[in-house]
Amino acid sequence: MITRAAEFAADKHRGQTRKDAERTPYINHPLAVARLLSETAGIQDAQVIAAALLHDTVEDTDATVDEIGEEFGQAVRDIVIEVTDDKSLPSARRKQLQIENAAGLSHAARLVKLADKICNLQDILAHPPVHWSLERKREYFDWAKAVVDNIRGAHAGLEGLFDQVYLHKP
Ligand code: NDP
Ligand code: ZN
Repeated sequence: MITRAAEFAADKHRGQTRKDAERTPYINHPLAVARLLSETAGIQDAQVIAAALLHDTVEDTDATVDEIGEEFGQAVRDIVIEVTDDKSLPSARRKQLQIENAAGLSHAARLVKLADKICNLQDILAHPPVHWSLERKREYFDWAKAVVDNIRGAHAGLEGLFDQVYLHKP
């Protein structure tokens, strides 16, 4: 299932790039999130790893939750739904809702959310979005911490890693 999820995500994110100056292929991000969970955090639950690979497909591609349910089953679909923002809302509201909803996430969704935030902070440090000011990077770090602070208790290792990366706040 994991390899199939990687293939599905690569296909859906085809042509997309990260916001960095290097125009890194977008798929590198879900791959990094899945790798962090499996190699660094030691998570062996295939449904969590598949959901990590798929975590941005519904938000950022034409993938639908039904398609993910049919291909990967209801459990994976439900994790992806939990980590998908409602793009019909204004971005400030979406960011506020991530903070508020973090406390109600399932354990599996917390793991994916934690790894996603760690990877995005690492990206901002090493391959930042072009044209982001210092202030914007700092605001992003603080917002990510506000989300993670409402998740704590899910995985001590990942939370400790988040705190370590946060120490490098620009
Ligand atoms: P974006 O949501 O536009 O960008 C951040 C997201 O982009 C990340 O969460 C990540 O999401 C993705 N991403 C892609 N490439 C990278 C990369 N190289 N490094 C890190 N992340 C990457 O920005 P904001 O989160 O700031 O959201 C917009 C908000 O910003 C609004 O609320 C607005 O008010 C505010 N804003 C602030 C400005 C300022 O100067 N302070 C200016 C303009 C807006 P994923 O995991 O989904 O790929
Ligand atoms: Zn992501």
